[in-house]
Amino acid sequence: IRTLRLVLGDQLSDDLSALEDLDPRRDVVLMAEVDDECTYVKHHAKKIVLVLSAMRHFAARLRERGVRVRYTTLDDPDNTHSIEGEMERAVAELSPERVIATAPGEWRLMQIMSGWHDRLGLPVEILDDARFLCGLREFRHWADGRKQLRMEFFYREMRKRYGILMEDDGPTGERWNFDRENRKRMPGGIVPPQPPQFLPDETTQAVMALVAERFADHFGGVDGFDLPVTAEQAALALDHFIAERLADFGDWQDFMRTGDPVLFHALISTSLNCGLLNPLLVCRAAEKAYRDGVAPLNAVEGFVRQVLGWREYVRGLYWLHMPDYARRNALGATRGLPWFFWSGETRMNCIGNVVRDTRDNAYAHHIQRLMVIGNFALLAGLDPDAVDEWFLIVYADAYQWVEMPNVRGMALFADGGIMASKPYAASGAYIDRMSDYCGECRYSVRESTGSRACPFNALYWDFVARHADRLTANPRMSMPARTWARMDPAKQKALRNQAVGFLDAMDRGEIV
Ligand code: FAD
Ligand code: SF4
Repeated sequence: IRTLRLVLGDQLSDDLSALEDLDPRRDVVLMAEVDDECTYVKHHAKKIVLVLSAMRHFAARLRERGVRVRYTTLDDPDNTHSIEGEMERAVAELSPERVIATAPGEWRLMQIMSGWHDRLGLPVEILDDARFLCGLREFRHWADGRKQLRMEFFYREMRKRYGILMEDDGPTGERWNFDRENRKRMPGGIVPPQPPQFLPDETTQAVMALVAERFADHFGGVDGFDLPVTAEQAALALDHFIAERLADFGDWQDFMRTGDPVLFHALISTSLNCGLLNPLLVCRAAEKAYRDGVAPLNAVEGFVRQVLGWREYVRGLYWLHMPDYARRNALGATRGLPWFFWSGETRMNCIGNVVRDTRDNAYAHHIQRLMVIGNFALLAGLDPDAVDEWFLIVYADAYQWVEMPNVRGMALFADGGIMASKPYAASGAYIDRMSDYCGECRYSVRESTGSRACPFNALYWDFVARHADRLTANPRMSMPARTWARMDPAKQKALRNQAVGFLDAMDRGEIV
């Protein structure tokens, strides 16, 4: 054997750098299902099904092309259950001349793999992950010397570089950003087209049985699994989104509706993040929909910004700031996670709905994650480590490089403003405006004190009061801080008592 080539569970792409120049006569591809990766946090059962089934399909695809794959299944009795253990076993068995891998997405694994050269006693090349549209060196170069990094400027560079939604003299439509048009409340009668479902084939069914038995104590179950597990399925899901839902994606992007977490969202993050979809093709397909008159500019620009902008930006920030980023807790938050994050048993209808959507589907859309769960965690001062771990566990698209900056940075402001220019703190009025949750809630969103008062309201003011100094210094948050400072002291006291009463009851484990 000349080269042993490693393919990880989130590297399932034909154009992976580790597979370039592969010689089927002399090379072997190593793939391994290991407990370590399924349990370093107890991932949602559907996420494990997704990754393992997609791995098995990818191995089959390589074999069809005549590639030799050394594949360890989870229930193989000789499985060492770590990537490193499986690499050592393969090296001992096959005596390759060298190992080639693509850089892993997570810092944790990079630490392990960068020691392989010494530990395995043979040359180990770790290549850049060229599936991302901004290399880590380029991101570092872009960030170098800038006092404050902002996604908007990074995104404009990316638009120019890839020529997406660009005309000779500037951005298509003469504006970089159409966000103002994208924050509408969805009227009741609109019925979003159902996304395609990918019913489990034999391979997926076998994985579902294995996961159900082996990880029975993980959050969420395997039943109802219908995510794409091959590149062909992922392409179908994308085509369907572009043809049926993209046109309305912009308008209703921020709206939340009971029992329908998908609405007009793309549902492609699971496929992008494990390598079944290529982000550049996704952006080009969206642009084509605009050029062909299938979708309006506000929708297409809003969507491209997520994939070409945010997705690349959070990855750049993650690698720029790890491992320090994982320890940041700028607001000094220490409260433990309430049980209702797992059970959904709460009187707060918004949180109950999002936790149930999350448990059932391993999915919730961006605003559910940011403005319901994240916002509550921010206002209640929940410990960033616990919240971080929760988000890494519960979503099928969760990998630390994308999850952590979104959670610690965007949702919790634990990074002190690296990711977001202000904390995304909001009272119940925001949730009422952007969802149908409040109408069915046991609490009243219009009340701030008393037994029926929406907890988000007093928690919001308590948050503003706790962090008044920091907020006053932030031009984008100074307004609430000033309003608080001017508020009648009796009202201030009542709000803070209300917040403390709620948090105490929550900490005692009462149903709140
Ligand atoms: P759409 O809303 O249709 O957006 C299209 C695509 O844009 C997504 O598939 C995704 O690839 C990309 N995108 C959009 N927003 C972001 C963002 N903020 N950061 C990175 N990419 C983005 N995304 C993950 O992929 N994994 C995570 O673990 C994750 N955790 C999050 C945690 C919090 C607290 C928040 C606020 C956001 C998180 N996101 C995460 C970003 C975003 O919520 C999801 O990418 C999105 O909901 C996935 O659903 P979709 O494919 O239907 O996306
Ligand atoms: Fe959530 Fe408050 Fe609305 Fe209830 S009233 S759904 S707790 S925002």
